[in-house]
Amino acid sequence: MNQNNKKKIIVIGGGYAGISLLHELKGHNNLTLTLIDKAPHHLMQTHIHKYLSGYYNRSELLYDYRTYCEKNGIEFIQDEVTHIAFNEQFIQTKNSQRYDYDVVVIATGSCSFFPSQIKNVTQFTKDIKAIEHLDFYRKAFLDLLHSEPKNRHIVVVGGGVSGLQIACEYAHTIQSHDLTPQNIDVTLVEGLDTILPNMDPFLIEKSRLRCEQLGIKIITKRFASELDENKIILSDGSAIDYDLLIFVIGVIGNAIEKTSDGITPNPRNQYIVDEYYQIPSYPNAYAIGDVVQARDVKTNNFQAPTAQAARMQALLVSKNILKRLEHKTGTKNNISNKGIFIDLGGTNCAIGKLFSINLSGKIALFMKKLIYALHIRKLNKM
Ligand SMILES: Cc1cc2nc3c(=O)[nH]c(=O)nc-3n(C[C@H](O)[C@H](O)[C@H](O)COP(=O)(O)OP(=O)(O)OC[C@H]3O[C@@H](n4cnc5c(N)ncnc54)[C@H](O)[C@@H]3O)c2cc1C
Repeated sequence: MNQNNKKKIIVIGGGYAGISLLHELKGHNNLTLTLIDKAPHHLMQTHIHKYLSGYYNRSELLYDYRTYCEKNGIEFIQDEVTHIAFNEQFIQTKNSQRYDYDVVVIATGSCSFFPSQIKNVTQFTKDIKAIEHLDFYRKAFLDLLHSEPKNRHIVVVGGGVSGLQIACEYAHTIQSHDLTPQNIDVTLVEGLDTILPNMDPFLIEKSRLRCEQLGIKIITKRFASELDENKIILSDGSAIDYDLLIFVIGVIGNAIEKTSDGITPNPRNQYIVDEYYQIPSYPNAYAIGDVVQARDVKTNNFQAPTAQAARMQALLVSKNILKRLEHKTGTKNNISNKGIFIDLGGTNCAIGKLFSINLSGKIALFMKKLIYALHIRKLNKM
């Protein structure tokens, strides 16, 4: 096919959503594919806890985009997209470059949410989605593990899946170094009335038991209200000393700008898409992953920002892009949550739910590892 007849697809963001989409589209010889990401590497966010504890090294967490793109016939541009002109079909970047597109897919993900009501929150916490911050937290943990005196305190704020996995991984690593909570303790703080709020009772109970086994102290129904260098003040006025503090209380979308050609993100800075994951009124622009507000077709609730949802959306949108280029009607949103797997630190300590089946132990850990392996296969495969 003549190069000029090829349609230029630009994917902004090479996270779970962007990479899954490129994986589906690569090899179609009527397309030219370009990935633009502000970072040089894909970060395996689902396994951050294993990097923070020192269990994984950098090469297990980061995958170089340039190498991936070269292997797969994709153009890679490391730059930050600052503006999308939906009407005129071009984007602009921080390096003042302009790129025209036939189709753009926004897959810019999310960053950690730090509510301004918590005094000093940005002064004493860091977004765990940036590798330099992960390096900071990893070093701080390994220093605590290997230095004297002990009697140290780790506080993880946010009892959702990410916070729970980090707390369990830390506590398990401490235990496996023959240290006790008297040496280094781990506290998990959750504002609602249970860890894993709004999740299945089986997952909540299993997690609570695992925390008990690891000596993790769980504090619920209290929110962080103020931070200082070594202390966190909770909503009931109580204070907890910390040597290492990590905040994982949720995410906010990375929509590229507040308004563009009439497009306004929602208050969580996500794009509201139509049932084809298109930006309304702009059929050549799609958005997928954490940066999107879309409904789960079974529950009618908004989909949670997960790698699982990102992957399913990418699959649907890749099909819709190809159908649209053939002037066929696309497939409407058919995505619903299939389940979840949670790593609770240590050999065979995992839990999960697949459709309505409860899983724990070896099989749950196997499933978690399988999902990881399938994803990195995409990144390594020619
Ligand atoms: C600690 C932790 C544990 C998790 N565990 C699980 C789990 O067990 N299971 C699960 O399903 N999900 C889990 N998640 C959630 C999951 O990781 C996210 O939902 C997923 O990463 C979202 O993928 P994404 O592609 O939308 O965004 P991301 O993976 O965040 O990728 C976005 C990409 O866009 C780039 N980008 C952003 N803005 C711009 C810009 N303006 N210009 C250019 N590039 C840009 C970024 O550099 C990044 O590479 C976890 C998340 C965390 C933080």
